[in-house]
Amino acid sequence: EIYCDNAATTALDLEVLDTMIPYLTNHFGNPSSSHAIGRKAREAVEESRQKIAGLLNASENDIFFTSGATEANNLALSGAIKTYEIKHVITNRLEHKAVLQTLGQYSQNNELETDFVKIDSRGNIDLNQFEWLLKNNHQTLVSLMHANNEIGNLNDIAKIGELCKKYDAIFHSDTTQTIGKYRFDIKKLNVDYIIGSSHKFHGPKGVGFIYINKYRKIQPHIYGGAQERGTRGGTENVAGIVGMAKALEIAYRDLEEYHNYVAFLKSKMSTTLHDLFGEEISFNGESDSPTNSLPNILNVAFPHLKKGGVLVNRLDALGIAVSGGSACSNLTNNGSHVLKTLNRNLDKDSVRFSFSKSNTPKEIDLIIKTIVDIYEQDIFIKKTEQQ
Ligand code: PLP
Repeated sequence: EIYCDNAATTALDLEVLDTMIPYLTNHFGNPSSSHAIGRKAREAVEESRQKIAGLLNASENDIFFTSGATEANNLALSGAIKTYEIKHVITNRLEHKAVLQTLGQYSQNNELETDFVKIDSRGNIDLNQFEWLLKNNHQTLVSLMHANNEIGNLNDIAKIGELCKKYDAIFHSDTTQTIGKYRFDIKKLNVDYIIGSSHKFHGPKGVGFIYINKYRKIQPHIYGGAQERGTRGGTENVAGIVGMAKALEIAYRDLEEYHNYVAFLKSKMSTTLHDLFGEEISFNGESDSPTNSLPNILNVAFPHLKKGGVLVNRLDALGIAVSGGSACSNLTNNGSHVLKTLNRNLDKDSVRFSFSKSNTPKEIDLIIKTIVDIYEQDIFIKKTEQQ
């Protein structure tokens, strides 16, 4: 079996698991309890908060734990819209559904006017038009992701943040795919909210966080307890939080090595595929660019198979896990809203390969060999049919 779908989720690091086990066993206390067992759990939660804040150069008071990035996106957007009575939002049609559907809830009732930034055929944002939109509206909330989870495109959030500051807009960035992969200096970045999800960087699932700029407030979205300083009620996922902090520590400890390694795997994949398939294949978005996209995502448009269905499913049957779009779009069966929006390669069979430190060059060779075999077989089937 080969797992090459690390943008969907990553394997739990065993070093991370070791740090979690005591909090699933001996130190099982509720962090809100005042006795020693509870205090032990509270200590672990607060140490994790400090660790995460330190890694991002943020203050620990600005980090709030959630169940993941979907919840963090909901919290940031709903919270900002309600707190600041936002009537206008600027976003991008390529954002994750957790952003688009949250905003959709408000625009449905005509409470919110939404402008989508202009993008080119590779998914790059037109910053001039973005500035024009900022200039011609006020009380604006901006939601633009750092990196796209399907095509890997990177947005210049430092520049976007500067423009938001210049025009006094609130800026939320979905940084789910870049936390742990790029260094953040939050004190220098003009962002109001950014988010992270532990399972994208070899931590456990079901836990994430939101950074909230201390100059911004946010209305609570889960009521019922005073946890997370009243912003998000509910007993904390102690072992998950401990695991997430450890996973992020490892990600930043090994960042350069990881970055170069996965970039090497991606470049090996893209150049070999290009050598073998030539013009028969193309790359979606900026995913083949070494500078404008994440080091770990390659989204390739292959020709349709004449027989035998979709390439992703054929690879799955042969023990290779890759994806067509995002894991979330699989659930709805509507295909990728990102590729549809770009209106590119819809007549092709697109596959997202996403790598991590767990992959090896040998696996890349094997995936490529399997794809070549599938296409050779396909041509063979087609030829015999014609005879
Ligand atoms: N935002 C982006 C860009 C993502 O890639 C994902 C992952 O699927 C999410 C949000 C949702 O993350 P989670 O699984 O933590 O809810």
